[in-house]
Amino acid sequence: MSTTETIKMASEEVSEKRTIPFYKPIHREVEVFEHAYKNKIPILLKGPTGTGKTRFVDFMAHQFNQSLITVSCHEETSSTDLIGRYIIKGAETIWVDGPLTKAVKEGAILYLDEIAEARPDVVVAIHSLTDHRKELYIDKLGITVKAHPDFMLVASFNPGYQKGFKEIKPSTRQRFVAVSFQYPNAKDETEIVVNETGLDQDAAKKLVNIANKIRNLTELGLTETVSTRLLVDAALLINSGLPKRLSVKVAIVEPLTDDLEITQALTDLCDLMI
Ligand code: ADP
Repeated sequence: MSTTETIKMASEEVSEKRTIPFYKPIHREVEVFEHAYKNKIPILLKGPTGTGKTRFVDFMAHQFNQSLITVSCHEETSSTDLIGRYIIKGAETIWVDGPLTKAVKEGAILYLDEIAEARPDVVVAIHSLTDHRKELYIDKLGITVKAHPDFMLVASFNPGYQKGFKEIKPSTRQRFVAVSFQYPNAKDETEIVVNETGLDQDAAKKLVNIANKIRNLTELGLTETVSTRLLVDAALLINSGLPKRLSVKVAIVEPLTDDLEITQALTDLCDLMI
């Protein structure tokens, strides 16, 4: 297998037959998605890491009984990765559709996770799919493919990461409807932790209280704060028998910071609250 094939397989994930994923709606995102899907308007999910964006797309794909193709974008992700490329197979050179082309032809939902991380030519490649044309131009083949009526484009973006240098251009943003994801309220977040892990309600509530306490400590200047994902990880460790304090330290505190003083202060705080 060539390197390109390996990379393609590593960054692209196709989920067809899935069990229903658990998703707790936080605002009116389900309703917005339903209408955007009906009208085939691309959606941009904005928000910090671990706030349920990926889970939401998976859930919605399931609601519509649609295949979901996920591409985790990074700084090397190019339009070629998405559209496709020629590869050498034995004595032959064959064309292999990339995830975008596949989704456009088959009518799948394409989820570009962290789109701002990708190279600028990715945005150029999706332009004609995000307006009335709804078509994809494959320059290497010199053809234009009309999008299947069920094709839908979803992208995510973490406004916190970019700090000015990896923004999405306003002209691109305006091609999407945008939905904000934030941390759920304490009641909903407790329900998510319990559902995801089977941890008891009281212990889950304590984890959520810890998260909210740390989220409010803005003076610590953490680049990212406690996400629901970290709480789920802590709950899983507790459930599998790791002591509570150690679980919280390794799943919540340590991933947030390398600063020894902040680590100690947060550990002390969590030890009191768990
Ligand atoms: P993101 O894509 O925003 O980084 P994810 O969708 O991967 O975040 O969410 C991380 C984890 O948090 C999920 O695997 C799930 O366990 C949990 N989670 C967060 N929000 C929700 C929600 N609203 N409903 C159910 N699970 C959630």
